[in-house]
Amino acid sequence: MGLYDAIKEAINLAQKADNIELYRQLLDLGAQALEMQNEIAQLKMENMELKRKADISKEIIRHDDPFLTLRGRPITERYCATCWGKDEKLIQVRRMYNGSFMCPLCNTTGVYDEKLADSDNAQEDMSGDYFSYRG
Ligand SMILES: [Zn+2]
Repeated sequence: MGLYDAIKEAINLAQKADNIELYRQLLDLGAQALEMQNEIAQLKMENMELKRKADISKEIIRHDDPFLTLRGRPITERYCATCWGKDEKLIQVRRMYNGSFMCPLCNTTGVYDEKLADSDNAQEDMSGDYFSYRG
């Protein structure tokens, strides 16, 4: 029997015994027990979420540009470092042209492949203004 059920039974007994003061105290206790049960359920959920984030944190590999990859996952799966740093959300970034990427949520951009960026830049952008295109 759970705490709340035990209190409910005690409330019934107090009612039968016609003890109003005891009945009131048990009602109050029952309300507190219910509140505690809800709080425990909420804390359990929060704890599960924290554990999940801690598990992910262990697998994160950071890079020079603001993207992340996860240990044991394909290197082509890239996530936004800004979104992770801000809200601990894993948002997969979109591959763009010239080895660059963009986060669909916060619009963070960067380069995931310097070689691709350099070679495409040399072919397409003769001004050599590499940094302005990176934003
Ligand atoms: Zn983002």
